[in-house]
Amino acid sequence: MPPQPTLKINEIFASIQGEGLRQGEPTVFIRLTGCNLRCPFCDTRSAWEEGRDMTTAQILNQVEAARKEMPSLWVCLTGGEPQLQIIKGLILSLKFRGFRIQVETNGTHYQEIPVDWWTVSPKPPRYFCRKELKSRAREIKLIITEEVDENRIAAVRREFPAHIPMLLQPESNQDRFRTKTLGLLQSAARAGLPNLRISLQLHKILKVP
Ligand code: SF4
Repeated sequence: MPPQPTLKINEIFASIQGEGLRQGEPTVFIRLTGCNLRCPFCDTRSAWEEGRDMTTAQILNQVEAARKEMPSLWVCLTGGEPQLQIIKGLILSLKFRGFRIQVETNGTHYQEIPVDWWTVSPKPPRYFCRKELKSRAREIKLIITEEVDENRIAAVRREFPAHIPMLLQPESNQDRFRTKTLGLLQSAARAGLPNLRISLQLHKILKVP
């Protein structure tokens, strides 16, 4: 029998979605290994390289086990950058079991896959986003770091249709970036940029994974 295809997985766990418009909803997370970027503020560096090869059946077993801890309608594929691996088969299997699918991506890759909720988070240095994702995104997430200013917010906002909400998220929930984010939200709103809001990392506030 030919070997089963595998995905390299960093971790699978149940928690609440801590970020964005789905904030607070019970969710099973599948963190895939590998990223094509190296953001200086990355808080999931372990996912750059670490992980183990798992078949779809093994992943589904762990997802079901995690769901026993926290009954969840949603599975969130995150990373790293989950689209560096071919995830269509896994997503179809999850949807067959009734899950809704969120994919968190840095926007540099696009796969034609049945995703219910794309979270697109353009990252430095180029903040590039594939055109296919610009209309499909359900939310845009911009991390407010030392280098982000009003011009960067305006440039990212312009890349996406105005009806898609754009969330400004302070880097690592640090006080100084929260203050900066509030100031930027005020000035960006005054400048007429549409559909902006602040997202704090709820899982860090609640101290859950
Ligand atoms: S894109 Fe995300 S996972 Fe990749 S280095 Fe940047 S913050 Fe980390």
